[in-house]
Amino acid sequence: MTMTQLQDISRKKSAELFEQAKNYFPGGVNSPVRAFKSVYGTPLFIERGDKSRIWDADGNEFIDYCCSWGPLILGHNHDKVREAVAQQLDKGLSFGAPTRLENELAELILTNNQYIEKIRFVSSGTEAVMSAIRLARGATKRDKIVKFDGCYHGHSDSLLVKAGSGLVTFGETSSAGVPKAFADETIVIALNDKQALEEVFSTFPDQIAAIIIEGIPANNGLLIQDQDYIHFLRQITQEHGTLLIFDEVITGFRLGFEGAARYYDIQPDIITYGKIIGGGMPVGAYGASKELMAQISPDGGVYQAGTLSGNPVAMSAGIAALRILAEPDFYTKQEEKTRSFVDAIRAYIDLKNYAVQIFTVGSIFWFAFTDQKTIKRADEIDPLSMEKYKVMHRSLLNQGIYFGPSGYEVGFISSAHTQDDLNQTIEAIKIALDSVY
Ligand code: PLP
Repeated sequence: MTMTQLQDISRKKSAELFEQAKNYFPGGVNSPVRAFKSVYGTPLFIERGDKSRIWDADGNEFIDYCCSWGPLILGHNHDKVREAVAQQLDKGLSFGAPTRLENELAELILTNNQYIEKIRFVSSGTEAVMSAIRLARGATKRDKIVKFDGCYHGHSDSLLVKAGSGLVTFGETSSAGVPKAFADETIVIALNDKQALEEVFSTFPDQIAAIIIEGIPANNGLLIQDQDYIHFLRQITQEHGTLLIFDEVITGFRLGFEGAARYYDIQPDIITYGKIIGGGMPVGAYGASKELMAQISPDGGVYQAGTLSGNPVAMSAGIAALRILAEPDFYTKQEEKTRSFVDAIRAYIDLKNYAVQIFTVGSIFWFAFTDQKTIKRADEIDPLSMEKYKVMHRSLLNQGIYFGPSGYEVGFISSAHTQDDLNQTIEAIKIALDSVY
């Protein structure tokens, strides 16, 4: 490894704040991956963001490709979103009663999305998925669910389960505090493996309430599935009276209003949303057909509620953001921008003959340090390759480019990223890759 020597940015103030934070929060953070455990140095404490850029407590400026883990498809502090939030602030923060804003956001979504007929707003992706699973169990009167190794669906008990080593295994819990009995209801199999799924259905006939999959798995690298496999999921679930849940917390409103459902041209039974839907504020949602949604309380027997669900400030941010996303060509432009960014980096990788792939869909991208041309399953990723990401990440930070603090995380391009930002980033990535190899 030839290290191109770059001076490390100052993290003095961030380090002080982190020390202080450790007195208050476990590990000094309110969400684990923020602790920078898999990359070099202490986490950066962010002071502010504007368009494509963020500034940390030490005054370092970065072009941001983490984008708050996906929500900020319009970049930081978009004028229209900020104005909408400011207007609502004058009227009040929360009422715990229905508001016109909930109707407005729902209408905007439902008129632009043929895959769901009714929606329920919650406050996070975790809540959305947890509620979708409950709905599936309530509707089918079955308890077991199937999830895929490498898909993340938030931190509710049923979904914090990891795969064992067999072809079809009950998951073990991947977190202390999840009862074994809960994990026993979750079956974990590898992605892209039809046989494993057939085996699940023959082992547990009439017992599987739902199969849940990320629209395009993007939490353990970007594991883009074949059209054929996703259609197989639809077919086998239909044959067995099992519901298909698309978790579109990342892909929803990222690949378009209709997300991965449109991308694969598939009708899931339930779809979950989060991140972009709230324009940077805490909103999640789940949607399905009228018939299925009729089973949710207060009309139906599947209970689900929330003090801050449909919060007016969050709704106003979501409405402002989604109105912009609904403009013609919004998504085409983001995809073109991402495509040319990725192509430029690929050309350099080819020139240097580096063993690096960049996988991309929509405005999402992921660097994999391997010579494998496709990766469709979590166990195809070599954990040792993460050491290379660590080197790249450090070099990029030192050059003013902020990527997610783990090699398993994808990057996001927002409408606020200018061509100059992208060009600057391409040059920085070349230097970073040179420092890896
Ligand atoms: N589902 C997916 C696909 C996600 O990526 C995430 C979060 O990253 C979640 C669910 C959980 O969402 P939240 O962090 O808002 O609870």
